[in-house]
Amino acid sequence: MIPFNKPYLTGKETHYIYDAVNSGKISGNGKYTQKVQSFFESVYSFKKCLLTTSCTDALEMAAILANIKEGDEVIVPSFTFVSTAIAFIRQGANIVFADSYSDNPNIDADKIEALITDKTKAIVPVHYAGVACDMDKIMDLASKYNLLVIEDAAQAIDSYHIDKNGVKKALGSIGHLAAFSFHETKNIISGEGGMLAINDERFVNRAEIIWEKGTNRAEFFRGEVNKYGWVDTGSSFLPSEIIAAFLWAQVENLEHIQEKRIKLWNQYFNGIKELKLDSIKLPKVPEYATNNGHMFYLTCNNGQTREKLILKLKESGFHAVFHYLSLHASDFYKGRHDKRELPNSDCFTECLVRLPLFFELKEEELNDIIMCIKNNFK
Ligand SMILES: *Cc1c(COP(=O)(O)O)cnc(C)c1O
Repeated sequence: MIPFNKPYLTGKETHYIYDAVNSGKISGNGKYTQKVQSFFESVYSFKKCLLTTSCTDALEMAAILANIKEGDEVIVPSFTFVSTAIAFIRQGANIVFADSYSDNPNIDADKIEALITDKTKAIVPVHYAGVACDMDKIMDLASKYNLLVIEDAAQAIDSYHIDKNGVKKALGSIGHLAAFSFHETKNIISGEGGMLAINDERFVNRAEIIWEKGTNRAEFFRGEVNKYGWVDTGSSFLPSEIIAAFLWAQVENLEHIQEKRIKLWNQYFNGIKELKLDSIKLPKVPEYATNNGHMFYLTCNNGQTREKLILKLKESGFHAVFHYLSLHASDFYKGRHDKRELPNSDCFTECLVRLPLFFELKEEELNDIIMCIKNNFK
């Protein structure tokens, strides 16, 4: 069976972990944490980066920093992973779910303004499959209504948005805050892991405190204060050096990993395009977005077609999967969701299928998958 995902190891992970262990410093915010954070700050122009134990945690930090309180409203796409919403739910927010475009799972930026009320505090665009949301429109709305933008960039490492003036900016560097994931299903990994990017100077100091259990320990370690103590709310959001050391091996190979993933993605795209099939649609990458080879998905014309395709692939030894179940219709939230229908989100819930895509997938295997798709629709 060709799996849906296979975590890629560069070979240096255990070497750096050995070094971290040997150095005697294995708790958080040590040499490897700082190496990784500095790398991202300099390569992608994030003002400040903090490694976290997951993207979910980074989103929770963002919700605390945004000062989200009971009764505040946060606009979130319905077609996303649970974490995007749960971070704000934990602060007592009401989630106002937004629909996707009809031809792209990202939040439909033209439908956001109608959802803004005087209780709205933040918009949380999710760059699905690493493809940018329309950040020009979203940032304009945020400044018009004085809202924060928190990018869920879990899938969006090394991907870009090109703004109306032609300026190319890394995803995660545009909103006030952004959250990344290094879960084993993402492009670069540390098993579980994540990162908060802070682009608004106002949040930098407080972010470090929330990260270190509500203490000013980070300042203390830099020698900026002579003792540290409890100064704010917070939690233990930082990963150990063992995780950061693993991640450093991945970061060092980022370019190589990206090259390979994008090559495989293009092979899927071109191969399936050639089949000229009526019952499936290829992913859309808008002109203002780039593709980081995170995920290859197709959209079937209905749920039955998808079910048949997944079964056919499975019988031929290929593991294809689907996700997400619209959050507005979830068991947890459907009672609280207003009556609005979100047809595009529901359509992706029913019709989207993800094909195997991982570093070690071979070109021949990928061609076999394309052939299997061809035969399925013959
Ligand atoms: C993977 C993912 C998350 C969660 O990331 P973790 O690191 O597992 O917490 C959140 N949002 C999106 C869109 C994701 O794809």
